[in-house]
Amino acid sequence: MANGLMTVSYIAAAILFILSLGGLSRQETARRGNFYGALGMGIAILATVIGAQVTGYGLLIPAILIGAVVGWVLAVRVEMTQMPELVAVLHSFVGLAATLVGYASYLDPNMHLTGAEKTVHEVEIYLGIFIGGITFTGSIIAFGKLRGSISGKPLMLPGRHWINLVGLLAAVYLGSVFLGSEGTSGLMPLIAMTVIAFLFGIHLVMSIGGADMPVVVSMLNSYSGWAAAATGFMLSNDLLIVTGALVGSSGAILSYIMCRAMNRSFISVILGGFGTGGGTSSTAEPQGDVVPISAEDTAQLLSDAKEVIIVPGYGMAVAQAQGVISEITKRLRAKGIKVRFGIHPVAGRLPGHMNVLLAEAKVPYDIVLEMDEINADFPNTDAVLVVGANDIVNPSAQDDPGSPIAGMPVLQVWKAKTVVVFKRSMATGYAGVENPLFYKENTRMLFGDAKKSVDAILAHIPG
Ligand code: NDP
Repeated sequence: MANGLMTVSYIAAAILFILSLGGLSRQETARRGNFYGALGMGIAILATVIGAQVTGYGLLIPAILIGAVVGWVLAVRVEMTQMPELVAVLHSFVGLAATLVGYASYLDPNMHLTGAEKTVHEVEIYLGIFIGGITFTGSIIAFGKLRGSISGKPLMLPGRHWINLVGLLAAVYLGSVFLGSEGTSGLMPLIAMTVIAFLFGIHLVMSIGGADMPVVVSMLNSYSGWAAAATGFMLSNDLLIVTGALVGSSGAILSYIMCRAMNRSFISVILGGFGTGGGTSSTAEPQGDVVPISAEDTAQLLSDAKEVIIVPGYGMAVAQAQGVISEITKRLRAKGIKVRFGIHPVAGRLPGHMNVLLAEAKVPYDIVLEMDEINADFPNTDAVLVVGANDIVNPSAQDDPGSPIAGMPVLQVWKAKTVVVFKRSMATGYAGVENPLFYKENTRMLFGDAKKSVDAILAHIPG
């Protein structure tokens, strides 16, 4: 492929990526945004593969075919609730790729750079491997934590900040040795730094508690972008630099938004130690009596209400209850009842998780409101349905300074006349924190799988 055509393809792909990010920022345009992203990536891969630099087609084509088949099968099979884990694994691939490209670039016998060019190239390699190594192991630990196979409890090693500092200083020292080495004699310090980066990634994510995982996911997203950008520098590939910078900076902005949503400072999240043991297995200590309610009575409560707010959470995604909830909403609205949805920024397990599910279920966008837009309206609301949400409606975030989620803004559902909580048991949510909401006077518990509960409610609301 001629160089000019390659440049034009890269510019087209970069523009499509920017349009994609723009599209993804609003629900109405998200589908188009996704399409632009996929098209841009298609053009980028094609232009790179048929570019003049690439020759090893014997290896490349089978690798692309295997990757495409694995990606296709995974995308078809993965449940919406497993998406965060999948994203974490994909981040780890970017990290591993950056690390491997770094080594390949260093050992490349065709690379004959000298003087400043050689130093710049080696700095790119060193940084690329460092960021890539942290992203690789950090994402694997995040995968385990999101899956529940690694405890959400923060690992609090004695002197953990010192361990981080010593690791960082050692990496800087090894960097100076690496840059001063001739030929490929810098391999040993490079390997030593890679081991430090791997341990750093593990320690970084292990010491972050369950409640702060949303920030970790977006932070690793950002790291994977910077790792890709570093790879772009190593390979002198402009498009990879641009794409990596786009992912890196949008991930950093998302981390900032998540921190603000959880009322945490970024530094305190990174330093770790917040949040208790996450996961769904631990159960809350009873704090009084809970009042159960039947699906039939819930349907009656909804039919008698003038204003209803539905608060979806992770459990709605697990139960796949969004389609039936959309139908219930339609029927209630047809009766003249005002129904709206309240979305917490960290509801579910991915940024925007609930918005995606509600959009898929064709809930009109204009009745889906952010926490800040709806929180003041709970006192005027007759009935609130909390569908598989827990941490995001936990009043102890406001009332109990000792709570691991203290200070996190929550949806103040308890201010409504009646709150119905849909869940299967008295288990805690992801942050592993007891929820006093369940014991409040105006709270009713609708026990059981959320899909079965909403099916039963729908049967009692004539269409
Ligand atoms: P939670 O994890 O706090 O609570 C979900 C609740 O759903 C559980 O209490 C569970 O109770 C219930 N549930 C599970 N399955 C079902 C089912 N089939 N039917 C009915 N109920 C069910 O979710 P929230 O959305 O309230 O909060 C999100 C949490 O996840 C926050 O702590 C957030 O920090 C964290 N997080 C968020 C990320 C993000 O980016 N959004 C990323 C990583 C973590 P039971 O088992 O009794 O049914």
